[in-house]
Amino acid sequence: MDAEQFREHAHKMVDFIADYYKTIENFPVLSQVQPGYLRNMLPDSAPNHPESLDDIFNDVQAKILPGVTHWQSPNYFAYYPSNSSIAGFLGEMLSAGLNIVGFSWITSPAATELEMIVLDWLAKLLKLPDEFLSAGQGGGVIQGTASEAVLVVLLAARDKVLRRLGKNALEKIVVYASDQTHSAIQKACQIAGIHPENCRVIKTESSTNYALSPDILCEAIAHDVAIGLVPFFLCATVGTTSSTAVDPLLALGKIAKSNGMWFHVDAAYAGSACICPEYRQYIDGVEEADSFNMNAHKWFLTNFDCSALWVKDRTALVQSLSTNPEFLKNKASQANMVVDYKDWQIPLGRRFRSLKLWMVLRLYGIENLQCYIRNHIKLAEHFEGLVAQDPRFEVVTPRIFSLVCFRLLPPRNNEDNGNKLNNDLLEAINSTGKIFISHTVLSGKYILRFAVGAPLTEERHVTAAWKVLQDEASVLLGRL
Ligand code: PLP
Repeated sequence: MDAEQFREHAHKMVDFIADYYKTIENFPVLSQVQPGYLRNMLPDSAPNHPESLDDIFNDVQAKILPGVTHWQSPNYFAYYPSNSSIAGFLGEMLSAGLNIVGFSWITSPAATELEMIVLDWLAKLLKLPDEFLSAGQGGGVIQGTASEAVLVVLLAARDKVLRRLGKNALEKIVVYASDQTHSAIQKACQIAGIHPENCRVIKTESSTNYALSPDILCEAIAHDVAIGLVPFFLCATVGTTSSTAVDPLLALGKIAKSNGMWFHVDAAYAGSACICPEYRQYIDGVEEADSFNMNAHKWFLTNFDCSALWVKDRTALVQSLSTNPEFLKNKASQANMVVDYKDWQIPLGRRFRSLKLWMVLRLYGIENLQCYIRNHIKLAEHFEGLVAQDPRFEVVTPRIFSLVCFRLLPPRNNEDNGNKLNNDLLEAINSTGKIFISHTVLSGKYILRFAVGAPLTEERHVTAAWKVLQDEASVLLGRL
């Protein structure tokens, strides 16, 4: 790499990105292109000779940006947020610049050690029990996604129970989660070879705001034990994907413990809120968990990807995932003096992701991060208040964090209880390009989700978004 050429190109790239953020509100939030749009705009094969950066930037403007959905737009309210920030960006940049591959301690001691330290910092900020800290038998690791996090702990738990019962017991071991648990658990079960009939999906109810009921779980476990099956893994969620339901960790954890099960807590989205003392209560009971996960790349200003996972027993992970080929052997690993994160994850190679989390924690500091979370929750509260004032709409589930679940009430005798109406409203809103929201289905009802969490969102954006929603609703209702 020619350092001077790099400097020149990288400066242009930084300018391009800075200008993008300055003008981000001018783009339709949800890309409006049709499938396959890019094929006709780009050549069939790669160029034989180098092209100029300016030509490439022109193509980015004309051909790529129209196919981008602008997750960082202040008018983005879909799914859950995926934060970018100056600190997160700088950390990514440094990581790309150093471009190390830190699978074993020796391949870049700083990458392993910084990851351990930063995850200890974050664990302390979340007031996780000391067993999750790296000083004891546990520790934290950065996975790419919450899906990888649940997969690796499921594999660890599976192998732990099979060491006790013998490999033939694979057919008998049972996983428990709720019908609100993210589909990542289903995928993890498929990969881990759990018998499809042994993945219990416990039904939740609107009366308990879609939280997993300890009583129903107990019944399911008792039934399975009675027919000779072996419960071994329970996944609870703090802040479910559909509606931010919070499962009762303490009660569920005690059930898991008394049945010898691994207890995993998925707080992919809502974990970030728990850095604020007033929201920490939502992970009370995490003391009972064997593993805990939050996505710093969702709502913690750390650019994708950065999913923090803590375990109390790192040996269980290592026993399940370690390999020790000759070509990776080295003194520090052989002497068992170091953590080799390759043994805590699926791939061998890994990026220096802790840099961006370290940058976020240092450049912003805890107080600013807490204010950041509180501000989004306040904006969601503002939106909730606006919905509540319009009798044509209802707020469907109580808002806990920064997601509001709501719907347009159907006129009397509407044949599908307003489901088509709300789907039409979603389509109409998103096709304006002014805002982007998403949906879910709860108890058979089609629900609209308004998730505040983009770093640039201010009250004026939320108020304007509500106006878009009201206007489109008026048009639709007028047509009925
Ligand atoms: N768990 C919860 C509660 C989520 O909301 C999500 C995604 O939104 C996931 C897991 C999956 O996250 P990832 O994309 O990091 O695998």
